[in-house]
Amino acid sequence: MDSFEKIASLAKRRGFIYPGSEIYGGLAGTWDYGPLGVELKRNLKNEFWRSTVQLRDDVVGIDASIVMSPKVWEASGHLESFSDPLVECKKCHHRFRADQLDDSVCTDCGGELTAPKQFNLMVETYLGVVEGEKLKTYLRGEITQGVHVNFKNVLTSTRVKLPFGIAQIGKAFRNEITPGGFTFRSREFEQMELQFYVKPDMDESMKWFEYWKQERMNWYHSLGIKKENLHFKEHAKDELAHYARAAFDIEYRVDNVWKEMEGVHHRGDWDVKRHQEFSKEDMTYFDEETKERYLPYIIETSGGVDRATLFFLIDAYEEEKLEGGDERVVLKLHSKLAPYKAAVFPLLANKPDLVKLAKTIHDDLKRELMVTWDDRGNIGKRYRAQDEVGTPFCITVDFESLEKGDITVRDRDSMKQDRVSIKELRSYLAKKLG
Ligand code: ATP
Repeated sequence: MDSFEKIASLAKRRGFIYPGSEIYGGLAGTWDYGPLGVELKRNLKNEFWRSTVQLRDDVVGIDASIVMSPKVWEASGHLESFSDPLVECKKCHHRFRADQLDDSVCTDCGGELTAPKQFNLMVETYLGVVEGEKLKTYLRGEITQGVHVNFKNVLTSTRVKLPFGIAQIGKAFRNEITPGGFTFRSREFEQMELQFYVKPDMDESMKWFEYWKQERMNWYHSLGIKKENLHFKEHAKDELAHYARAAFDIEYRVDNVWKEMEGVHHRGDWDVKRHQEFSKEDMTYFDEETKERYLPYIIETSGGVDRATLFFLIDAYEEEKLEGGDERVVLKLHSKLAPYKAAVFPLLANKPDLVKLAKTIHDDLKRELMVTWDDRGNIGKRYRAQDEVGTPFCITVDFESLEKGDITVRDRDSMKQDRVSIKELRSYLAKKLG
C-alpha cells in the first residue's frame, strides 16, 4: 500500500475524510470531511490566519464570493489560458494530462494517444431564473481574483499602506482531467492565500518574494512537518504561468516523489493592470511619500488547505513496534493541529463515582479545549484509538483519583504517564500544549 492508500483507509475508518456522495457511488474528485477531519482542517486554517493576519500589522483578511462576474475571468486570463493538455487513448478511451505522462502511449492499455487538446479547467455555472436569460459564469478557479478586485475597496476602507497584504481562505473549483491521489487533486478544494502588494521595483519586490518564500517554509516547519520532506522547486522560465515573473513551489515528498503543496509567485502587476484595463476602474496606488501614482507589484503565496491537511497526515503517520512485540499506529500530529487535545476516560464505565468525576473533568476542559470522551472497552484499546487520531494526551480517572484528587495523564508520543492533581490539570495541559 502506498502512503495515499494507507492514509485514505485510516481517514475513512477514523472519521477524517470520506469519499463525496458515497452512498450514490461517489462523485469523482469530491471529498467530505468527517468529525475528526473538520477539526484538523479548521486548526490548520486557524494557524494560517493567526500567523498571516492576526500576528501581523501589514496584512488584513477578506472573504470574497465564489461566483464572480464572468468579466473577472476574462481579465485574469483564465478563460483564455487556464487549461491543461488533454490526451485520450484511442483504444480504451481513458483520458490523461499529457504533461504528466512520461511516454506517449496509454498507461492503462498501451494504446495510441490522440494529439493533446487544451482543456479549460473552469467550472461553468448559470445564475438567474428565466431560461435563455441566465447569466453564464464560473465557480472560481482560484481564490486570488476575489482579492485583486477588492484591492481598491480595502485601500479606501482601511488604513493600509504599501507594502501590505490581503489574505483569504476559501473554496476553488477546477474541472481537473485526472483527479486522484486521494484528496491531492480534487475538483472542489480549499486554498489559503496571501496577495502582498509592494512598490513596482524589481529589487524591492524580489526581496519580498524571498521573504515570503522563507516565511511560508518556516510556517510548515513550525507545525512539525519533517524538514527533510520539504523543499523548494523553482519553475523554469518556460514553465512559468502566464502572469508570473518568478515562481517557486514548496514541495512535499511522498513515497520518494516530490509533490506541489504551495506556490510562491511574483505576479508583477498583471492582475491590477488587467482589472484596470477590463473594468476601466483606476487601480493605481497613491504613494504619499513620493507623490507618485503607480500599479503595485504582487507577491503571492498560494497553498492548498486540503493538500496540506493530507501531507500533515502522511507526515505524522507512524507504525511503531513496541516492547513485547505489540504494534501501534500513531499520528504524531503537532498539538496545534491535533483534532482533540485530550481524551478523558473513567477507568471503568460501570462505576458511577468514576464516571461522575471523569465527566466533571471533561466538562471543565471542554470550555477551553477540544476534548473527547471514551468509556468503551479497556484502557489499552482506548489509548490505541486515540493514538490513531493523534490525540496528544489521555486522562484516566481511577479509584485513587476519588481519594487523592489526582489523575493519570498519558503522553501520546512517549507513552509515559504522569500523575497530576486535578486542580493543576488545566495549567499542566496549557504548558504542554503551548
Ligand atoms: P497542479 O500543478 O498540481 O495542478 P497548480 O500549479 O495548478 O497545481 P496553483 O494554481 O498554483 O496550483 O494553486 C495553488 C495551490 O492550490 C496548489 O499548490 C495546491 O496546493 C492547491 N491546488 C491546486 N489545484 C488543486 C486541486 N485540484 N486539488 C487540491 N488542491 C489543489
